Amino acid sequence: MIIVTKRGVTQDELDHIRERVEALGLRTHVSQGEHRTLIGCVGDEERLQSVSLLSIPGVEAVHAVMKPYKLASREFAADPTRIPLGGVQVGGQEVIVIAGPCSVEGGDMLLRTARAVGAAGARALRGGAFKPRTSPYSFRGMGEEGLEMLAAVRAETGLPIVTEVMDTRQVELVASYADVLQIGARNMQNYSLLTEVGRLRRPILLKRGMSATIEDLLLAAEYIMSQGNPNVILCERGIRTFGTATRNTFDLAAIPVLKKETHLPVLADPSHAGGRRDLVAPLSYAAIAAGADGLIIEVHPEPESAASDGDQSLDFDEFASLMSTLRPFVAAAGRTLAS
Ligand code: PEP
Ligand code: MN
Repeated sequence: MIIVTKRGVTQDELDHIRERVEALGLRTHVSQGEHRTLIGCVGDEERLQSVSLLSIPGVEAVHAVMKPYKLASREFAADPTRIPLGGVQVGGQEVIVIAGPCSVEGGDMLLRTARAVGAAGARALRGGAFKPRTSPYSFRGMGEEGLEMLAAVRAETGLPIVTEVMDTRQVELVASYADVLQIGARNMQNYSLLTEVGRLRRPILLKRGMSATIEDLLLAAEYIMSQGNPNVILCERGIRTFGTATRNTFDLAAIPVLKKETHLPVLADPSHAGGRRDLVAPLSYAAIAAGADGLIIEVHPEPESAASDGDQSLDFDEFASLMSTLRPFVAAAGRTLAS
């Protein structure tokens, strides 16, 4: 249930509305917009039937939310959520690009990559220290040593770091290094992990599961938010279909659908979606045209010798060229490229 308050509602009125709702055992979340204030009510909505909400001073309208997700729903927030990252806001007017290697493979390659992507306009550095690999025999990341390298490169370049957390046992460790914690596609429905990162206030980059519907993705975001962490960034990275021409099937329509359904920022990952270097640029353009708030892109100093995802990684020149050819698409979408 969402309560829309009247213009100029007073603090006393707001407090009174919340007290009435909370007395019935529901929780309230206030969303203060520029023009109006919304009160979201979470819990057993049946109980609200016993009160005439419209007769409470300061209440203008009451809307039932039929969606299974509430905190993540567009109706729940008066304004789009903007998440500060490296001097810009994800979900604001600017389009943000996050770039870096699939995996942290060493301090030197990481620093070189950070410098190259930063110079080309990336606003954050990605790199996995803990890698979810389909085969247990593949390179599974450098672990804490990789996190230390990420922190050292952040200190050197000023770029905030985005890195994956795979397990509830690693949340504290990863959170002690990362500016943004990534939940990978394979863990999108790891509900213990979602609950654990929900206890943080650090931004969470939540990637869509390979066979997750949009509703599944939004319910996963709801898990995080229901624990008190409102800083969730969604990411469309392709889903598994019967198609074999690309690594995954990039669900372009998911971007405008998500922008309609939720107030959370939406990024696209053209690297994992296409799985091929030559597809990264066209999928990036399409994502921006479809309304994505930013991109996360894999870049490696020598893609052919990358320990993971070399086929889809851009080299430094390819990344710089993508950043310049992206600009007209960003402008056509009525946005500016944060750089
Ligand atoms: C990654 O970002 O390197 C990764 C493993 O992504 P995903 O979880 O989308 O497969
Ligand atoms: Mn990867």
